[in-house]
Amino acid sequence: MYIFVLKIVESTTVDGPGLRNSVYCAGCVNQCPGCHNPQSWDIMAGRPMHVEEIAQRLLSDDMCNITFTGGDPMYQAKGFTELAKIIKSQSKKSIWCYSGYTFEEIIKDQDKRALLPYIDILVDGRFVQALRNTDLLFRGSSNQRLIDVQKSLAKGRAILYDYDPYPYSKIIDNSYHIQHL
Ligand code: SF4
Repeated sequence: MYIFVLKIVESTTVDGPGLRNSVYCAGCVNQCPGCHNPQSWDIMAGRPMHVEEIAQRLLSDDMCNITFTGGDPMYQAKGFTELAKIIKSQSKKSIWCYSGYTFEEIIKDQDKRALLPYIDILVDGRFVQALRNTDLLFRGSSNQRLIDVQKSLAKGRAILYDYDPYPYSKIIDNSYHIQHL
């Protein structure tokens, strides 16, 4: 199976936490006004890469986790499901996936839903220019959500992922207070 790929960006820090290798795929039908990457809409803008080739390239990097983005990975959901399956069976890498579809739309579609068991975090929803917010981490507009996919599948509804970019700050704050009591 092939995925039409625009590019694979290595060691990026903008598509999820830490260092990640991001697969930017071609193909998107959502046509969000103000889209950051309209040249990605045409699937023929990408080059077909076999999922095994993509998987081996991603797995050869011991450091980085993985992000699927585009374009919209859900436009090529079958290819990404096969890719994610290989990655999860051969590594402990986390996979983040961006999509213009919401979690609720994805679970109603058999092919798109099949990708979810292999995804850790879904960044969902179309980009809405009126809700654009440059302070948001890993998202362009405030309607877009970071979703903990495995908890959401277990509960049957979207459960937000409470990402804390400064996990040690509370501990440091507490120890500061203890020292100064
Ligand atoms: S879903 Fe993403 S790639 Fe597709 S049109 Fe919207 S912003 Fe652009």
